[in-house]
Amino acid sequence: MGHLKGAKEAWCKICTGSAVEDARHYMCQCPNDLYVQVRKKWYKKASDRMKNMSMKLREAFIGTVELKHGMLADGDGQGVDGLMTAWDATSGRIPILWSKAVAEDGIDDDDYKTFLRWYGERLHKELWQPMWVERSREMAKMMKDGGNS
Ligand SMILES: [Zn+2]
Repeated sequence: MGHLKGAKEAWCKICTGSAVEDARHYMCQCPNDLYVQVRKKWYKKASDRMKNMSMKLREAFIGTVELKHGMLADGDGQGVDGLMTAWDATSGRIPILWSKAVAEDGIDDDDYKTFLRWYGERLHKELWQPMWVERSREMAKMMKDGGNS
């Protein structure tokens, strides 16, 4: 996507960061307050659920995705299994480290499967959907205000 960097059309219109507005930007990094609220709520729910199940899993989660000033940043553990980033985890890929963590904690396979289903559902309902709703609302507002000035 590097070639889009210069094209203003592709920039995020919701913040002033001159960033290309791809899914990764608005899902993880855009500082818009509405997005921040959605991310905070989702993050708390996900990490609370993990805390109740396995502290090791929660640690692995935080090692992958960290909430920093309402943005989803790569956690410190990211280097450990190489390629997993905050974006991976929020786009539904499950880091091997998470599975390893629950195995080490002796969590039942079925419990983990139930958890993965829950995690996927929450991602849709509490991160992707509300983010999309907020984005559409902001875009509609901008159109109405006669955005191209
Ligand atoms: Zn933005």
